[in-house]
Amino acid sequence: MTSPLYGQMMDVPLLASSLLSHAARYFGDTEIVSRRIEGDIHRYTYRDCEKRAKQLAQALIALGVQPGERIGTLAWNGYRHLECYYGTTGMGAVCHTINPRLFPEQIAFIVDHAEDAYVFFDMTFAPLVDIVAPQCPKVKGWIALGDASCIREHLGDMEVPLFSYETLVTAQDGDYAWPVFDERTASFLCYTSGTTGHPKGALYSHRSTVLHAYGAALPDAMSASAGDAILPVVPMFHVNAWGIPHAAPLVGAKLVFPGKDLDGKSLYELMEAEGVTFSAGVPTVWLGLLNYMKEAGVRFSTLRRTVIGGSACPPAMLRAFEDQYGVEVIHAWGMTEMSPLGTLAHLNFRQKARSPEEQRKSREKQGHVIFGVDMKVVGDDGRELPWDGRSFGDLHVRGPWVIDRYFRSDESPLVDGWFPTGDVATIDADGFMQITDRSKDVIKSGGEWISSIDLENIAVSHPQVAEAACIACAHPKWTERPLIVAVLRPGATVTREELRAFYEGKVAKWWMPDDVVFADELPHTATGKLQKLRLRELYRDYVLPGVAEHPA
Ligand code: AMP
Repeated sequence: MTSPLYGQMMDVPLLASSLLSHAARYFGDTEIVSRRIEGDIHRYTYRDCEKRAKQLAQALIALGVQPGERIGTLAWNGYRHLECYYGTTGMGAVCHTINPRLFPEQIAFIVDHAEDAYVFFDMTFAPLVDIVAPQCPKVKGWIALGDASCIREHLGDMEVPLFSYETLVTAQDGDYAWPVFDERTASFLCYTSGTTGHPKGALYSHRSTVLHAYGAALPDAMSASAGDAILPVVPMFHVNAWGIPHAAPLVGAKLVFPGKDLDGKSLYELMEAEGVTFSAGVPTVWLGLLNYMKEAGVRFSTLRRTVIGGSACPPAMLRAFEDQYGVEVIHAWGMTEMSPLGTLAHLNFRQKARSPEEQRKSREKQGHVIFGVDMKVVGDDGRELPWDGRSFGDLHVRGPWVIDRYFRSDESPLVDGWFPTGDVATIDADGFMQITDRSKDVIKSGGEWISSIDLENIAVSHPQVAEAACIACAHPKWTERPLIVAVLRPGATVTREELRAFYEGKVAKWWMPDDVVFADELPHTATGKLQKLRLRELYRDYVLPGVAEHPA
């Protein structure tokens, strides 16, 4: 057999550190601006950031951290968290971002499961660390993201092995060359939010991180450029803020970090003050921003586009951004197991020639894959379904930034080499995917499926409804029927009959919700998703109108 003819190009491994080095060298003066938990605005440059990330790498080495060890973070979006991203992964350790909104028991489980050697934390999370630390005996030290005096003042009573981040970092000179190693080395560890069972870890590699950053920056993805000022509202503790901390240095964009203040007013003011052109976050956050802007009667002067994902973007939100504020909305879908980007709703040349209504319908979907992700929907028999925009099925994906197996698990989650996402979707002739449900949430009425997301979107397009969830309710004849749980806007007076009537003409008759109930608030997961499981528990014994008794 003849040996293959190899290409004769440099074999340079794809390493996360190269993203920051690139920004420091070619966009050295570009700013990174952070609203600190101390309350003030901190600004420095990519050049400064790389220096401090190197100082941090030296500090970790001085603490005895070995390549491959996991280092946790419990932190808001800010410059120190960015340094943790690069300092940790740059020296060969793994940056494990932890979601502080999880229950303390879940956090303890995750820290223990990951076997974090050290954990960085923002001072706001000191009470949480106090609770969690005794349950995490493997952690050698908790590193507070502040200076020694801050720690003395605020954390004096903590009974954990405590370090000051600033003391550790400033003790080093930053004279350090990023080591070069195998690009398949682990880079980041992110746990799924775990609405059922224990959270599971997705362990990214340097290669997947860099490839994902390239994909995320593409024009038909986030379209990131050196001309942008990017404010990630999506937290750095949730799937690496959708890759923005990697894509921004890759293109040399200015970064603006909002810290812990994610209310509409704080976000709006920071966006205006820093000339933010692009942002990304989940629908719940944007709801707060839109409400604030409406009340305050203000407009954006620099924001041009925003990526909305994590949960379905209600069409009413897309319209509000575009029609009232002239901000382009890019609906996107992804998941922790996919680093996370999978699809984004950018129109192709042919779609742009269609009527405005057709264009909008396409853009309300979750969109088209970017190169790096392959997808298909499969039926109950595992066979691929047609791309007709109607056939619902389980969505499967594969690609170089898609999980192969969960951290410290021997079982492969794959089916024929594809990862089953747990989402139910359609794909249309344009290759546009639309999520209709999580497979657990779809309503199975008389053997047919009803999309809970579609019914929720209609409810929230009612002017008096602030938020709505649609869940399956047990039915003696149809097995399951849709029930809407709605939260009204303050002062709203709409009745159950009026809200039901609102569906007429908007959905097929058999999709009409059987009932509407009102609640003061809806339960959310730590990542802002509706907690349908909890809602189903709350309404487990609910008896629908026209049903003599609960079928269970
Ligand atoms: P996570 O891993 O926490 O980011 O959650 C991923 C899950 O969020 C996906 O599997 C979907 O169920 C849901 N999700 C993400 N983006 C969207 C979207 N644009 N529309 C509907 N569901 C979404």
